[in-house]
Amino acid sequence: MTATEVAGTTRENGGRERARVVVLGGGYGGQLAAQSLARRTDATVTLVNDGDRFVQRVRLHQLASGQPVDTPRFTDLLDGTGVRFVDDRVTGLDLAAHRVTLRDGEALDYDVLVYALGSHTAVPEHAHDVSTPAGATRLAERLHDGTCRRVAVVGGGLTGLETATEIAETFPRLTTTLVTDGALGADLSGRGAAHVRRVCARLGLRLLEHASVTAVHPDGLTLADGTEERADVVVWTAGFAVTDLAARAGLAVDPRGRILVEETLRSASHPDVVAIGDGAAAVATSGDVVRMACATAMPAAQHGARTVAALLAGREPRPWRFRYAIRCVSLGRRDGLVQLVHADDRPRDLVLTGRVAARVKEAICVNALRVQTHPRIPTSA
Ligand SMILES: Cc1cc2nc3c(=O)[nH]c(=O)nc-3n(C[C@H](O)[C@H](O)[C@H](O)COP(=O)(O)OP(=O)(O)OC[C@H]3O[C@@H](n4cnc5c(N)ncnc54)[C@H](O)[C@@H]3O)c2cc1C
Repeated sequence: MTATEVAGTTRENGGRERARVVVLGGGYGGQLAAQSLARRTDATVTLVNDGDRFVQRVRLHQLASGQPVDTPRFTDLLDGTGVRFVDDRVTGLDLAAHRVTLRDGEALDYDVLVYALGSHTAVPEHAHDVSTPAGATRLAERLHDGTCRRVAVVGGGLTGLETATEIAETFPRLTTTLVTDGALGADLSGRGAAHVRRVCARLGLRLLEHASVTAVHPDGLTLADGTEERADVVVWTAGFAVTDLAARAGLAVDPRGRILVEETLRSASHPDVVAIGDGAAAVATSGDVVRMACATAMPAAQHGARTVAALLAGREPRPWRFRYAIRCVSLGRRDGLVQLVHADDRPRDLVLTGRVAARVKEAICVNALRVQTHPRIPTSA
């Protein structure tokens, strides 16, 4: 389908003057896309999310440690934009009929669909998680109930590292162990990895590296070599997963269920669907699929909105050109790591550490919320 066909479809469809854009998912990607679309187009924009508050997902490890995290209402974020907000759960997509079905309410018809349903962690039984507010709140309650002595955080990626250091700093009396199947900081520069190790040592965080978890029990976990690791609380951070909604609907997806997109971020199989954020297999200028990250979801949202605006105006949309610049990791509230990276995300031998890095990371989190109501602020290099 060409840009002209999308624009033409809208005008022919019942003589309506305004195109209908429906945005699914109000995370860092979807909320920002809805805001950008309201400013860029005269379409009616509807944002659907299963919950009436915006979740600062990049702060859920803070929530899990008992810190208050602001959750603004969508109606406040969207005030004055003209975007209609629907608090409901998307249960299905009829791509031929251009219709979204919802759990509780009416079906929504669209001319262009923006898919931004994000990701979650597939958590084994007996484990906690920090990928949703409900999971993070449950973990906070458990950590504060006074009966917990040993915590094991599984997953040596950025989320695992941020979660383990946050817990170790907040609960110095607990024995916190970070379990990873590789070497901690393997994808950081030598300086970056060395700093992370220094901070873990300072916080008294135990490291179990090259340890693959095969089972989680109510009182701990089993490793591939048969070792039993005792823990009162296991936090699972290994790997984000996506809903099977896109695959079930018939959209072309990759083996992880993420929507395959062309370089304009239009679905490879259904060009009237634009997919952004963790639920899309968008490709960076390096040729690799981008990391599931707020740092990639927001630039994709801004570009996705440009693509939709072009389609509705009958213009051919432009390709998304995404290059990495930095990776930012919190290591508790008083330390952090800013790892400078090449355009293809390979680490450079340049890092910021300590309180300065913690301040940079905090500023980035503040900005990630601020941009949600100021969608013209650039979010990529
Ligand atoms: C603890 C933690 C720390 C992180 N730290 C960083 C970091 O420092 N830097 C970074 O770049 N990334 C970080 N991330 C990753 C980042 O949060 C995600 O990659 C980012 O949120 C993806 O944005 P998104 O818009 O694609 O999806 P999400 O933010 O996940 O938003 C998806 C939205 O869709 C809603 N939704 C899902 N299914 C449905 C449905 N069926 N119907 C209706 N609504 C639905 C969800 O409720 C949610 O509001 C972190 C993640 C976690 C968990």
